[in-house]
Amino acid sequence: MRLSQFAKIVQPSATLAAGAKARQLREQGVKVFDFSLGEPDMNTPEHIAAAAASAVVAGHTHYTPAGGLPDLKKAVAQWYAKNYGLEAGLDRIVISNGAKHAIHNALLALVGPGDEVIIPTPYWVSYSDLVVMAGATPVLVPTTLESGFKMSPAQYRAARTPKTRLLMLNSPCNPTGTVYTRAELEAIVDAVLETEATILSDEIYEQLCFGDARPTCIASLRPGLLDRTVTVSGASKSYAMTGWRMGWAIAPPAVAQLMTDIQSQETGCPSSVAQHALIAALSGPQECVARMRQEFAARRDIVAGRLAAIPGIRLHRPDGAFYAFFDVSSYFNSSIRDSAAFCTAALAEAHVNLVPGSAFGCEGYVRLSFAVARAEIEGGLDAFAAWLARR
Ligand code: PMP
Ligand code: GLU
Repeated sequence: MRLSQFAKIVQPSATLAAGAKARQLREQGVKVFDFSLGEPDMNTPEHIAAAAASAVVAGHTHYTPAGGLPDLKKAVAQWYAKNYGLEAGLDRIVISNGAKHAIHNALLALVGPGDEVIIPTPYWVSYSDLVVMAGATPVLVPTTLESGFKMSPAQYRAARTPKTRLLMLNSPCNPTGTVYTRAELEAIVDAVLETEATILSDEIYEQLCFGDARPTCIASLRPGLLDRTVTVSGASKSYAMTGWRMGWAIAPPAVAQLMTDIQSQETGCPSSVAQHALIAALSGPQECVARMRQEFAARRDIVAGRLAAIPGIRLHRPDGAFYAFFDVSSYFNSSIRDSAAFCTAALAEAHVNLVPGSAFGCEGYVRLSFAVARAEIEGGLDAFAAWLARR
C-alpha cells in the first residue's frame, strides 16, 4: 500500500526505540541496566491514583470538553498563580494527552511550510521531528559543554532570519540537565521580542531542579509575554504520571482555541479519568514531589561522582531533570565510530542501555537517564566502567 509523505520524514522516537530494545533483550532473559527512558521509576503517588479511582466510580467516564475540564484548567491556573505569580485566564489553557501532544498541537497551530523554528542543540528527540511534521524547517543552534549547553542571545540573533517564527526552549533541559538562570532567559527573551517571533517554552522538568537551581516560567518574565509565548508542561515527570498522558499548554487565547480545535479533530478530548487525577496532583499535597526531587538529586550526585571517576569522560553536571549527558568520543575507534555504535556496543557487551547523542542532535555524547533505582545505577555503572576499562 502506498504510504503518505510521513513515511519519509517521521522517525520513531529514539528514546522510546531504545527502551523497546532493552525490553526485547530482557524478554530473552538477559539482565539489562536500562538507562534509556526518561520515565520516573516511582509509581504515581497514592492520593492521585485514589482520585482517579473515585472519578471512575463517580461516573466521570464520559467525553469532556475538547480542551479539558474547566475544573482542571482552574487548577492549572491556580498552580501558576501560586508558583510564579502568573495570572492566566482559562481561555489560555489547553489540556492535552501529554506534553508531547501539547507541543505537537502548538506547532500545528503556529508554523507551517516556509517557517523556520530555532532549536538550541542538544534538544529533546521529538522537537525536530515534530517541527518537520508540521511542515516547517528546524534551524539547529549548537551549544557546547563549555557554555553549559546554553544558547546565548547572540547565537539566537545570528540564527534568526525573516522566516523565523518560533524559538523552542527547554529549561531544565532534556538531555543535558541544563537550567538557565532567570537573567539568561531574560536576555534571550529580549532578543526574541526584537521581532515578531514567538517562544515555545517546554517547562516539563520545572519541579525537578537541584541545589540552588530554580525553574523560571518564561511567560512570567516580562509584562505582556503571555501573548508571545506558549508554555508547555505536564504531569509525567513531577508526579510520576507518564502513563496517564497528561500535559497542558498556556497560550494566547486565539492560539489556545486553534489548539483546542485541532485536538477536537484528533482525539476528541484528553482522558476524563486522567484529568481528574491531574486535578488531585496539582491541588493536593506536594510533599510527594519534594521527595522525588530529593531522590533524583541524590542519584544525580551518585551518577556525577561515578562518571567523574571514569577516565576520558566529560560530563556536564546536570542541575535539573534526570539525565546525565556526557562526552564519550575519547572511546571512539575504528569499530566504534559514533555515539550510535557506542550505544550498540555498550548494550551488546556490557548490557548497559544508553541513548546516542546523535538522537539529540549532538554527536560524541550519550545520555543516561537516572530515573532508575539506585541499586540499578550502582550495578549499571560498575558494568559500564568495567567495560570501558577493557576497551
Ligand atoms: N518535553 C520533554 C523535554 C520531555 O523530556 C518529555 C518526555 N518525555 C516531554 C516533553 C513529553 O512528555 P509527556 O508527553 O509524557 O508529557
Ligand atoms: N521524554 C522521555 C525521554 O526523553 C520519554 C520518551 C519519549 O517520550 O520519547 O526519554
